[in-house]
Amino acid sequence: EARHAGADGLVEFDPESGVRHAEARQLESELWHALDRGQMKLLYQPQVALDSRAFVGAEALIRWQHPQHGMISPLTFIGIAEANGFIVELGAWALKQACRDAVSWPEETVVAVNVAPLQLQRRDLVADVEAALAESGLPAGRLQLEITESSFITAADDLIEKLQCLKTLGVGLALDDFGSGYSSLGYLARFPLDKIKVDQMFVRNLTESAASQAIVSSVQALSAGLGMTMLCEGIETEDQARHLLQLGCSQGQGYLFGKPQPAASLNLLARQDIGPAVRQVKRAAG
Ligand code: C2E
Ligand code: MG
Ligand code: MG
Ligand code: MG
Repeated sequence: EARHAGADGLVEFDPESGVRHAEARQLESELWHALDRGQMKLLYQPQVALDSRAFVGAEALIRWQHPQHGMISPLTFIGIAEANGFIVELGAWALKQACRDAVSWPEETVVAVNVAPLQLQRRDLVADVEAALAESGLPAGRLQLEITESSFITAADDLIEKLQCLKTLGVGLALDDFGSGYSSLGYLARFPLDKIKVDQMFVRNLTESAASQAIVSSVQALSAGLGMTMLCEGIETEDQARHLLQLGCSQGQGYLFGKPQPAASLNLLARQDIGPAVRQVKRAAG
């Protein structure tokens, strides 16, 4: 059986046996219609300041609400959508939907949207981003695009130019899953990035592993030196959050602060509860 339900209740199809499996082929043909049929949903996972726990933004994470299979994980269909090109349409939809959802969030909060390598290769990306911003009225500075190192490996010559265009618009750029791939330090210098998202593998064993601690503090020094924000992914325990704060990490994301959830149930009040005045007092006191 190529299908199993993960710990989070999402259905995943084993990509190895899955691609040859009749059920997976069926899934691929259904994927093309999933958008028109209104089966794609965006959930949002909060991103917080590790010191105050204030809400600073949220990452849009896509789900396929399949009539027979239930909620299908993006780990199952993003790969298929990249292989058959559907990711271009799906990604453009996610951008528009995320900007629409985030426009009512508090000022200075961001919405982070994942962008697949194939989307980055397309000439339309900048136009798609401009359209999503214009249509929703979201200020460009409140949109952040999450890109992965694999985009740099397959990069065409015009990638830097394209990223520079996005920067000119005012859109933020985050490097996702840092440390899980090739992690060439050259990328950090060459590409105009605003944020490094440290992969959850370094957070998972942080409290036991001296190596993970060393890596996290090196990335902290690196991001500070390069003027980038550092966010750690996959924070599940208070111990991890405390430890990361001690290591100088400023932002976090993970089940401890909130699971991916519908836009309507996000707790945006967290930031207003602890407004700038309160934070200043805290800083002065601490
Ligand atoms: P990602 O961008 O690195 O997203 C973080 C993943 O970690 C999400 O998985 C999230 O649910 C999970 N996560 C968050 N906190 C925790 C935690 O505390 N513990 C654990 N164990 N996991 C945590 P998800 O939602 O299954 O998404 C998987 C990947 O699918 C994403 O990884 C991203 O690469 C891709 N993806 C999701 N939505 C989109 C999209 O709209 N476009 C593109 N191109 N890719 C997407
Ligand atoms: Mg991401
Ligand atoms: Mg990630
Ligand atoms: Mg990931």
